[in-house]
This record gives sequence, C-alpha cells and structure tokens, in this order.
Amino acid sequence: MAQYIYSPRYHVDIGLHVFPTAKYELIRQRLIDEDGALPEDFLEPEQASAEEVLTVHTQDYYLKCRDNRLSSLDQMRLELPWSPELFDAATRCVRGSIDAARLALDHGVGLHIGGGFHHAYPDHGEGFCVFNDHSCAIRQLQAEGAIDKALVADCDLHQGNGTAAVFADDPTVATFSIHQDHIYPMDRPPSTIDIGLMPGTNDKAYLKELERWLLPLFDSQAPDLVVYVGGADPYCEDQLGSLALTREGLSKRDALVANACKDRGIPLLVVLAGGYAYKFEDTVGIHLETIRQARNLWKPTSAQGDS
Ligand SMILES: [Zn+2]
Repeated sequence: MAQYIYSPRYHVDIGLHVFPTAKYELIRQRLIDEDGALPEDFLEPEQASAEEVLTVHTQDYYLKCRDNRLSSLDQMRLELPWSPELFDAATRCVRGSIDAARLALDHGVGLHIGGGFHHAYPDHGEGFCVFNDHSCAIRQLQAEGAIDKALVADCDLHQGNGTAAVFADDPTVATFSIHQDHIYPMDRPPSTIDIGLMPGTNDKAYLKELERWLLPLFDSQAPDLVVYVGGADPYCEDQLGSLALTREGLSKRDALVANACKDRGIPLLVVLAGGYAYKFEDTVGIHLETIRQARNLWKPTSAQGDS
C-alpha cells in the first residue's frame, strides 16, 4: 500500500478566501473511504529546519516569516493574512516535499497531499505561496548527494515564476511551465521552457502541446527526479482561469506525466499546487485523480511484501 505525506495543519484558517485550505483533509478522507487507505498510511511531516528552508530562501525573508515581521506590503503580495499557523504549515510543507521526494527515490513515486507553492521567490512570497517547498526538496536532495539533476514539470494554470527564479542559472534543474497567458503572474522570469496558452484552450490542444514540449525535455535533461506540480486550476470550471480542460483531459495530463516517468524509470514527486473550481468537490476530485494516476508507480519494498 502506498504512503502519503500529509498534515492536518495544512488546513489554516485564512478567513473567506478563494484558496480552499480544507481541500487537503478532504483528499485524505476520500483516499480512506474510496481507496482503502489506512490512517497509518499518512505520514505527517515535522517542520522543516531553517537550513532546509535556506537551501532556497534568503535568511532575511525566512526570519521575517518566523518572527511574524512581514509588512503589510509583504502580506499584500502574499495575498494571505499572516499568522503563526501559516508559518507552521509552510515549514511543514517544505519538509513534506523533502519527505515525499525521499519516498520517490525509494519507491518510484512520492505523493505529497500538499505543496506546489511555485510562486514563492527566494526573497519573498506571493500568490498564496510562502515557501517554495518543491524547490527546497530538490536543493536538499542535491546537497545530500541523493540526486544530481531534476526536472520540474509545472502544469498549474499559473506560470511557475518563483521556481523559474530559483533555478534561473542552474543547468542541473530544468523548469517546464504550461500555463494560461495574460493572467497572474505578470512578472515572469523565464523557465527553461514556457508554454503560454490562450483562453479556451481545450483538452486536445493542451495535451498536444504538453506532449510536444515536455517529453523531449525528459530525454535532454535525463533527470534523477521529476517534480510534477499538478494544479487543478487549468479546469474549465475554475474561478481564476479560462482554460477549457475537462476532468477527463486533466486525468490524461496526469497519466501522460506519470507514464513518461514510468517508461524512463525516473522517480516522481507529486505536489498539488492550486485549484479554485466553482464546485469545491471538483478541486478535490481533480487532485485526487492526480494522486491516483501517479500512485500506479509505487513499488513496494520487499519488507512490505504483497500488502
Ligand atoms: Zn495556480
């Protein structure tokens, strides 16, 4: 049985907000109710150490967050009301992505029911993203010598500006982002490959572009780890975007990324990123499908036997 990285503390009270922080526990519950997951299959991360966060972020920014000294301008850019609980969730999320990346190296896939905060830059947070969890995971595993090269496959509706900034001058990490053009973020450091899509882009056109540009990058980069920033927000019924992908199209997207890893034997780390569907259950269902598609890559260790 696969394991999942998850913390109930990812559900932070941010008031009336488009970001549904309750989604994580709903995904967990459906994995238990519908997929036979057991409570002990969910591993709760500790808070990341300062050193782990500082693999990506500046000390000045980290300390401002830790000591609750973010200015009103900082909070405006973050688009979240600050609280100590948010710091707790963000640091746990960094450790969660590190833990899930380790599961990926051991079992072929690491499933983080959280993370994907790709708008966080080294020196500031923005767009609901405090710390860039998956970038910290890549840097941490590189520092430990567990991996050399990585590929970030970012299929969230929004361009992965923070992640692109983190790895701008680093040929060991390729960044791929397929997103809607002419919406947030307006400030876009270039990824290794950016695919900007027009409003109304449908399943067929999206999947064609994904296959055309992402798969060659798998082969030219030859990564030791792929980070899949899933994103439920390219959905046709999302409040923040106007792409026209259906649930079926998003499932095919997930399968394309998972199969690309499977075919090449590359470990896959899954993080969830955004999702703002008009119907909350759609956001939960889309993320759940991402987890399910990737879970097929899970390889039990011999100690786990046939369970
Ligand atoms: Zn997004």
